Amino acid sequence: MKISQKKDVSIFRQFDFSSTVKNAKLTVITGPMFSGKTKSLIQKISKYNSKNKAVLVCQPKIDSRYSQHSILSHDKDTEVEAVSIANPAEILDLFHKANIVAIDEVQFFDNSIIPVVQEVLDAGKSIIVSGLDLDYAAKPFGTMPELMSMADEIEKLNSVCTFCSGRARYSHRITDESEVVVLGEKDKYVPLCRQCYNELKEK
Ligand SMILES: [Zn+2]
Repeated sequence: MKISQKKDVSIFRQFDFSSTVKNAKLTVITGPMFSGKTKSLIQKISKYNSKNKAVLVCQPKIDSRYSQHSILSHDKDTEVEAVSIANPAEILDLFHKANIVAIDEVQFFDNSIIPVVQEVLDAGKSIIVSGLDLDYAAKPFGTMPELMSMADEIEKLNSVCTFCSGRARYSHRITDESEVVVLGEKDKYVPLCRQCYNELKEK
């Protein structure tokens, strides 16, 4: 049997395919604490800015470790202006004027971030998100697994193990707090490799 490709293609001609929507992509930057996720996000934002692209930079309102008006890498090297968002739906009111949307600490948002990301992509805008892949108990963090499965590109970063300088995968909490979200820096968390994490857990 001969299959006519011509006929199949003609079915699709009736649709108006948008190249903007086609090229919109979701990039997820992930890894443990102190792995340079925010720094990588800021570098990507700067790259777009240098090409005269407007980037809407958002962060969850919960993360007030540094500033509510900007995002800053852990080494406090680089800073970018950002809007603090309490509810992901606020992004839908803001993104139309931007070419790209960037979200830092995305793991702190609830499930409603997923349809928002989808809507922005469907509108033909690319999104870059940065967030922790695992929580302090080495469990997948919030919506990160879903975002990673939606992603067109994933940048997975590692940190340096505090004990052995090996490749760190885990953000180990050194306090007794047991809530999933406990904001802190090196006073509360240390990056650990698999072996050091397991050894510490057994103790
Ligand atoms: Zn180690």
